[in-house]
Order: sequence, then structure tokens, then C-alpha cells
Amino acid sequence: MTDAAGRRELPKTYNPQAVEGPTYRRWLEMGAFRADAGSGRPHFSIALPPPNVTGSLHIGHALDHTFQDYLARMHRMRGDEVLWLPGMDHAGIATQNVVERELARQGRTRFDLGREAFVERVWAWKASSGGMILGQMQRLGDSVDWSRERFTMDEGLSRAVREVFVSLYEQGLLYRGQRIINWCPRCLTALSDIEVEHEEVPGELAYLRYPFADGGGALVVATSRAETMLGDTGVAVHPDDPRYRHAIGRTLRLPLVEREIPVVADEAVDRELGTGAVKVTPAHDPGDYEIAQRQGLEAINVLTEEAVVNAAGGRFQGLDRYAARRAVKDALAEQGLLEKVTEAPHAVGHCYRCRTEVEPRLSLQWFVATGPLAAKAVEAVRSGETRFEPARYQRTFFAWMEGIRDWCVSRQLWWGHRIPAWYCPDGHVTVSRQEPAACAGCGSGELRQDEDVLDTWFSSGLWPFSTLGWPDRSEDLDAFYPTSVLVTGYDIIFFWVARMMMLGCHFQPPTPFRVVAIHGMVRDAQGKKMSKSFGNVIDPLELMDRYGTDALRFALIRGANPGGDVPLAEEWVSGARNFANKLWNLGRFVLSSVPEGTKPEDLPAGDQRGLADRWLLSRLERTRTAVTAAYDAYDPAEAARLLQAFAWSELADWAVELAKPRLAAGGDDARRAGATLAYALDVTLRLLHPVMPFVTEELCRALRDVDTITLGPWPAERTDDLDEGAEADMADLQEAIAAVRRFRAEHAVPPARRPRLAIAAGDRHRAELFRAEAESIRRLARLEAVEVGPAPAGAGPSAKVLAAGAELYLPLAGLLDLEAERARLERERDALDAEARRAATKLANADFVAKAPAAVVDRARARLAEVEAARAKVVERIRELAATTGG
Ligand SMILES: [Zn+2]
Ligand SMILES: [Zn+2]
Repeated sequence: MTDAAGRRELPKTYNPQAVEGPTYRRWLEMGAFRADAGSGRPHFSIALPPPNVTGSLHIGHALDHTFQDYLARMHRMRGDEVLWLPGMDHAGIATQNVVERELARQGRTRFDLGREAFVERVWAWKASSGGMILGQMQRLGDSVDWSRERFTMDEGLSRAVREVFVSLYEQGLLYRGQRIINWCPRCLTALSDIEVEHEEVPGELAYLRYPFADGGGALVVATSRAETMLGDTGVAVHPDDPRYRHAIGRTLRLPLVEREIPVVADEAVDRELGTGAVKVTPAHDPGDYEIAQRQGLEAINVLTEEAVVNAAGGRFQGLDRYAARRAVKDALAEQGLLEKVTEAPHAVGHCYRCRTEVEPRLSLQWFVATGPLAAKAVEAVRSGETRFEPARYQRTFFAWMEGIRDWCVSRQLWWGHRIPAWYCPDGHVTVSRQEPAACAGCGSGELRQDEDVLDTWFSSGLWPFSTLGWPDRSEDLDAFYPTSVLVTGYDIIFFWVARMMMLGCHFQPPTPFRVVAIHGMVRDAQGKKMSKSFGNVIDPLELMDRYGTDALRFALIRGANPGGDVPLAEEWVSGARNFANKLWNLGRFVLSSVPEGTKPEDLPAGDQRGLADRWLLSRLERTRTAVTAAYDAYDPAEAARLLQAFAWSELADWAVELAKPRLAAGGDDARRAGATLAYALDVTLRLLHPVMPFVTEELCRALRDVDTITLGPWPAERTDDLDEGAEADMADLQEAIAAVRRFRAEHAVPPARRPRLAIAAGDRHRAELFRAEAESIRRLARLEAVEVGPAPAGAGPSAKVLAAGAELYLPLAGLLDLEAERARLERERDALDAEARRAATKLANADFVAKAPAAVVDRARARLAEVEAARAKVVERIRELAATTGG
């Protein structure tokens, strides 16, 4: 829409819905987000942490994506070649669960379909229902390069996965072994340590009595999982424990199963814990497994994959673990072998997907030997190839990398990258990039591929380079790797950052990313975690519907202090919407009030600028510098705060008000004022664009003849605009105006009442300043007239306000309630009296005067003199008032 003068006309109110969709589509049409590896510009790249294909945009994504988007947009505006690469994760367990639930509604399981048909069905689900989040990312304004979208199961990434698996195997960094792993009896899969969530539960400790086989006495062991005794193959005591020295080497008769088991001595036993004698269940406890390895004890598995007692559990076969726990205790009690049961709350691991209690289970799995990989990742951080922002998260990273155990990467699922290992009937293992024709060990053609798939994190751990064409040498890989920054919440450091660092530093050195920028979690206004059970979950899509995308983005970024949690309340989003509206109104004011044809680029030359122009441009340059520095320091919250304060207070409140009479007067000065305002608004909008891309783009397009600002330029440095003198003068002016306003507000002076103001300035410079700006003071403080000169005498009582090194006199007659004013002055006098008394008492104290440092005593004396002088003035004013009112 344009007006008669050819200017674009803006609707009265900002309507986000009408702007956002068309603007985003326009950006896509102009290819604004497409990266060109060969452009020769400096590269800036981010690999978007791929959301799950099952996912929908939640408030955590909204923060995470807005954070990345501000970086991408800022660098794009500054002229960098930006690649922000999007994609999705196949999310093994999560996706398989979705499709399994669908099948369950039809009364079927994945086993009814068989592997191939099931996997086909998951792909079909992905095609029809997966990836909902991609459209939501567009609504949020993510400036990602859609032409490079990837999926962790697409052909290229699958090839990268296989290459890494086989290479690690060839390098001896990947092996198959019997280990105690975390097992989810519901998902029927192994879980890595970090997929297990520990939670305190009200458990109990059962004390079981195991008689010696020779009939001489018994040992008592304590356990929270009594059913596991069915798989005990020994009892261990500490070699130096005098209580059990007699028992070492003897044989016990394991009750219920009637198996003979030895008493062994092992340093790992904690003498202080329980009875000091521990049952050893190698197949169901990781610590016991290690004891068993050292002591040569057998491992007997007594549970099925579903955590039901198996044939090894004798008469307890078929009971699930909880029923078996009760049955075993009952049976032992019957035989008098249950010594006691005490309450003992303890931490129990739960499956992070389904909350089922995890069962430690001995099984044959594939492991990545993390030691050498972790060492490389740690070295990359120590040497500065990668740095953490804020730096304190580096410690968290080191702590975890140092304690890391080998990574179990096989999962008993069907949806995922199938493990490229084949077995022949003789048990030889062939690991291969291509499907092998024959066994590498014996040449047998009878091969069976491993049934398991790889942990989802195995493929997402390759994300920064697999998405750029690796293992091929591609133009993108050369141009955009290492990526510039990885943005992620602190909750995911262990899950993902560590894996990417280990695999990236090893396969594509020196590092997958130069910076790891950590942000916190979005919480409610009270700082509480958002969860369905608290009922405090905020849906970002609803907020975007209600307040617009820019408002949501601004509220999130405004709260995102570096590395800290981000509180969010709906009212803050509505506050941010008000800010967007404020900007809109500013834009409308500038467009409608500046003389026709005035452009932001028509800034007046230095000597043509008035005080308000010089002040505004100086403040603008300071804001520009500080905002750019904050953005660069991964502190967008500070940038947002600075911009909001500048736009709202200095630009909208002061600059616009100061410019109004100049604009209304027309002529050259109006042109100067208009161009300065338009320029300041244009720069402010550009600086805000990374956080509020839609409203800023729409306004800038209206302000000047541009198609878009999303490709820049970023406002350039203009140190010549810095003007400390203008800032100091304007500060005095603002202080004087604010003092009159405050006086008016305190005394409830009606807006229509316009007193005269007399200013007695403290020095000549200020006197000239107030004289020159008298008209601005008059208008902005709602005054009849402003006179600058000596203190008025004999003009009746007036209020005196001290501000900006000047005395401001407002005649009181007709201005306010004189009785109330007298009461106010009397209160002021009493307060000064009290302070004077305190100061005098202190100075009368010989001890204080003698012992306190001379400077302190001098200060106290000076203060007392000041207070007394102030009191004298107040008393004088009370007397003046009394003279007027005749009281
Ligand atoms: Zn589970
Ligand atoms: Zn073979």
C-alpha cells in the first residue's frame, strides 16, 4: 500500500498473522537462507540439533531455535556466508514406540508384521505424520537452508554411519562383549547410562540367611532385590574383615535353589554396608559382575527379557520380578531364613522413555571403547580448538568425559541403522561396509546379519560432518566444517555434545565446532520446571497465535541470560507484543511526520545537527556497539534489554517528543530532525532483526526503498557520532524535565495547569543550555513559560526543586494545595532534624572523634553542615508559605 506521495502506508495496528507467513515465503523465494559454499565470503555455520521426527515444537525448541536464528541472521546481515543446516533425527525408540502403539490399537505387535514390513510401516508413518516440526520451525522464522535438509536415516548419513562403525571396529575401538547393561523390560532394549533416570523410591532391605554347607552356622546378606538371590553364585566379604575371616573359602548352601556357593574375599566389598557380607549375582548387577570376573564365579541369568523369572529360577519360574520378590521372601521366611526386613529408600534407575524400572542384565552387546576418543575430545577443548560459552560448562564437560564408561551402542530395536556385522554358524564375526558374500573367518556363505540397530546417538553424533557429505570430500565440508557454533541446552551436554566431540575429533579433526554455546531450560515465572503434571506447560504455537512470533522470540531471548535458566510467563510475551506495537507506532509516526521525501540516509552533516540530533546519534552509536558486543558474546538477553531500553525510552519517549515541534515547524530543520529520527529507527530495527525478524523487516521496508534487511547490511560503526558533550547536556535537560514532572506527579498537579518555571542555573554553560532548550522544557514539562536567570525574588511562595546543577522554581499559587505542601515540607524538616541529631550525637562522642580516621570525622562534620543548611532552607520555605496563606 502506498500513499499519494508514493510512500508505503502501514496499517494502524501491527497484525503478525498478516505479515509473518508472506514474509517468510518471500525470504524463501529470494533464496535468502541458501548457502553458497563458493561465494568467497567468511563462513559461518551451525548444524541444527536435529529434532525427533516424532516431535512437535515445544517451548524448549522455541528458545533453542531462536538462539541459533539470532546468530545465523546476525552473521548473514554482517556479510558472512551462513549455513544453518536443518534436519531430523529418526529417534529409534521414540518412533518405534509410536508405530507400535498404532499397531497395539489394532491388537497387533511388530512381531506379527515381521521386521521388513514393520520398518516399511515406520517409513510410511514418517511420510504421512512425521516431521510436523518442520512447518512449525518455519512459523518460528528459522532461517535454515531447506535445500540442505537431512535425515539421520537418509542414504548419505547411513553410509557415514556404516563407515564409522567399520572404521572403529578396524581400529580396535569397537567390540562385542558380555556386559551388564541397563535393560528396559518394557522397551526390550539396552539403554546407555545416560538414558537411565535415577529416582528415589521407598524400598526395603531384606536380610537373608545362607547356611554353611557343613551345617556350622550361617552368613547373613542384605538385598533390596530378593529375587536375584536365585542367581547368586557366591558371597563376598572383605579380606581384612575380622568378622568373616573364618568364613573365607568355605561353602554355603544357597536356599531355595539348593546350590553350593563359595565365600570369597574381595577388596571391593564395603565393610560398612549392610552386614559386610554381600551376595554375588553376576548376571544381574554390574558390581557383582566385576567381582565374579576376578573370582572366577559363574554368571547365571534368572530373568527373561521381560524381567520374568526363567527356568533357572526353579519353582519361581513365570513370576515377574516383583511377584518373585515377595514369593522368595515368603519362602525364606517359612524356612526361618529371613532374618528381618527394614525400610530403606534407595535410588532406582528408570527407562527415560517409558519410566519402567531398569533391570541390570548381562548380555552380548556392541561397545565403543570411549577412552581414546574421550581423550581427543578433552584435548580439543584444552587446546582451545573448541570453547564453551559460558566457560564454566567446560568443567562439566571434563568431569563427564573423565568418568565416561564404554558406550553400549547396540539397541534391540528394528527402527534404526542395522549393525553391519554378520555371523556364520561357527560364530565368526564379519564387519563390513558392504554386505559380505562370505564369512571373513572361514569363507562360509551362510551368514546372518546382527539383529540389532545402533543407538540413535551414534548417528546424531556424526551430524556436524555427515550432513556435509562426509565420508566424501565435498565442497560443503571444506567450506563449512568445523561448524562455527553448536547451540544447545545444558541438559543435553552429555547426551549429544560429548558424542559429537568424540566422533568429530576422531574422524574429522580438529573438532566439530569452534564454540559450544549453552543456554538454560525454559521454566515458569517461579522458576519451576515445566511439566504436564504441574500443569504449567506453555505451548509456543498458542503464544505465536496470540501474540505473534516476534513477541514469543523476544520474550525468550530477553530471559536467556548466559547459561542460566529462562523464566517465561505469558504476560511477558504479551509485554513483548506491546513492544512490537510500540515499534510499529514509532514507524507510523516517522512515516507520517517527516517531510516528504526524507530518507534515513539524508542524515544532516555534523555542523548542521541540533543538540537532540547529536545526542540521539551518539546514544545510538553507543547502543549499536554494546548490542553488537553482547550478541557476539552469546548474550542476546543483554542485547535485547539494551535495544528495548533504547527504543522505548530514548527513541520513542525523548527523541520523538523533542522532534515534534521541529517537524511541525517544517523547513530544513524538520528535514534534519526527520532524517535523524528515521535513521535511528532504521538502525534500531536492524539491530533487533535477529531477534524480531518479522516486524523489523516490515517496518524497514516501509522506511526506505529496500526489499529486505535480512541480507544486511549490519549498521556500520560510526565513532564520529559519539558526542559526550551532547549526552551530558541532554542528561541535564532530561533531569530538569523529569524533576518538574516528578514534582507535578507527587503533588497531583492537574495536566491542564501550566505554571511558569524559573531556572537558576549553577554555571554559565548550563544557563546557556537551558536558555537554548527552554522551548523543549516548556513543552515536555507542560509549562506556561520558562525563564532562565537569577533566583526570582518577591514573586510569592514557590517550590524549589534541585536538579541538573540548577534550582528550579515553580510558583505555588494556584498550582497546588498549600496546606499539603506545608505538611510535606514539615515532614522534610523533621527528617532533616532527625538526621542532624544523629550526626551531632556521633560527633559529640569523644571516642568516635578520637579513634575514627580523620577523613571519616571530617566527612561526618561536612555532612552535618549540609543537613543544617538544608534544614534552614526548608524552614525558610515554611515561613514563606505561612506568609502567603496568612497562617
Ligand atoms: Zn522403556
Ligand atoms: Zn565363519
